[in-house]
Amino acid sequence: MEYQASVDSTPTTKPLTLPTTESTTERKPQVHVALDFDGTITVGDTGDDLFRTFGAFEPLHSQLLGGQMSVAEYYLRAVRSLTADATPQAVHSFALRRQVDPGFLALVELCERHRAHVSVVSDGFDVYITPILEQAGCGHLPVACNTLQHTDEQWHVAFPGASESCSCFCASCKRNALLATVHEHDLIVFVGDGRSDRCAVKHADVVFAKDNLAAWCTEQRIPHHPWRTLHDVARVLGTKFATQALRPRRQAQLARKAAYETE
Ligand SMILES: [Mg+2]
Ligand SMILES: [Zn+2]
Repeated sequence: MEYQASVDSTPTTKPLTLPTTESTTERKPQVHVALDFDGTITVGDTGDDLFRTFGAFEPLHSQLLGGQMSVAEYYLRAVRSLTADATPQAVHSFALRRQVDPGFLALVELCERHRAHVSVVSDGFDVYITPILEQAGCGHLPVACNTLQHTDEQWHVAFPGASESCSCFCASCKRNALLATVHEHDLIVFVGDGRSDRCAVKHADVVFAKDNLAAWCTEQRIPHHPWRTLHDVARVLGTKFATQALRPRRQAQLARKAAYETE
């Protein structure tokens, strides 16, 4: 469903169902490595900077953090604040000037060498995520995110990954993006830094967390590996792949089971 920036409405939800295979019993468990985008793949938050550069970031962002509106509502207002300078070309060049984490490509290559499934789960927008991934040589990665389309001189925002059943702090639910592709005995590795990562982290077996997310994991007693650059993640994950040390986390497995049951 698509929302115009000029229209206030609530997102709808998609039902969450376990992915099916022809022969579940013979399928080898798959490792899924899910990466957050803003502040994880890129250095700094590209979404925040998009609105800082082309529209109004404050006081909207403080109101969002203060609980005065949902993330979807925040995005609708922030997108409405974009000025005429935010042409598709200008947003594209803005995206290409963003700095990507120095270990990004090495991490993706490592995962692919070990036949892990790599995906990007973001509460940001395709309009900058796609060109940045392409420029980094990772345009082939599947991405779950919100979308921005420019037609009739206006930006139109849509939330294809919205969830009402998850109590997450995001417009694109990362938990549902993961659970829609992960089979029962698969393993989820999650790498992130922020508030929108929390619902995914609760359902992930192995967690790499920095900044705000690391503090929250400590508070919630969720075991996690701290990281500064994605080289750190690649180093730890490389050892785990080599020594077959990737193990399911009981709390995550239970949370996943509960998520399917309550959806
Ligand atoms: Mg982030
Ligand atoms: Zn969620």
